Amino acid sequence: MSSAAPQVGQLTVIGLGPGATDWMTPAVKLALELAQDIVGYTTYVTLAGPFRPEQRLLDSDNRCELERARLALELAAQGRRVVVVSSGDPGVFAMAAAVLEALEQAADPTWHEVELTIEPGISAAHATAARVGAPLGHDFCVISLSDNLKPWALIVRRLELAAQADFVIALYNPSSKARPWQLAQALEVLRQQRAPTTPVILGHDVGRTAERVTVTTLAEIEPEQVDMRTIVIIGSSQTRQFPRWDGATWVYTPRWYPAE
Ligand code: SAH
Repeated sequence: MSSAAPQVGQLTVIGLGPGATDWMTPAVKLALELAQDIVGYTTYVTLAGPFRPEQRLLDSDNRCELERARLALELAAQGRRVVVVSSGDPGVFAMAAAVLEALEQAADPTWHEVELTIEPGISAAHATAARVGAPLGHDFCVISLSDNLKPWALIVRRLELAAQADFVIALYNPSSKARPWQLAQALEVLRQQRAPTTPVILGHDVGRTAERVTVTTLAEIEPEQVDMRTIVIIGSSQTRQFPRWDGATWVYTPRWYPAE
């Protein structure tokens, strides 16, 4: 490349995994190492550090993902090497979709020339599942309980249909101070379709120092056990549990269904 040629910027949307650095892929670590600008929600940018003094941190508590995505694209279009940070996997209720939405809407052709890469990460459902065994061993689905970005009626319909179809269900964003009643209502919907003994796994801060993983049942789970740093996995009719040698519990969903 001649020195006069305009430099094409790079934008890498990365997933940090749930928290522990040994659950971060080498490709993600390399992207962080090479980044000039790091864009993201402050909590996640902090988790992604430490950084060198010359690396610019454009972190904020601003929840508008599209604005953050546009900032990252704009910097990359200027020729910078930019990383956008998400927790878990960037494609699961996170920044990758926001970046693509901002790109599709962008009139500026230089934004479309940015070298855009999405680097996957371990999602909270996978990390939590691994802690207790293999509850996602057969068909499963993920549903966000947040009705900030979609109507509650649609969430209820998805819960009903997923429960009827006997999917294992991983609930993201199950509860928050601003959304206190949604989880209790979701559990009511699920209890109409599933046995009270259905195994339920609560993964709180998985992969972080405050990690707490609990195995309970659909009858016993209390919404108070769950906050926004928790993921809830509801077993299917086939999900089983049995005691582990150390007093904990193994949970798994077999690879097969009994013949009709
Ligand atoms: N992109 C993320 C999900 C972001 S949505 C991923 O793939 O994991 C935010 C929700 O993810 C939280 O409300 C919580 O339900 C879940 N979550 C994220 N990290 C978690 C962790 N370390 N432990 C438990 N749940 C987590």
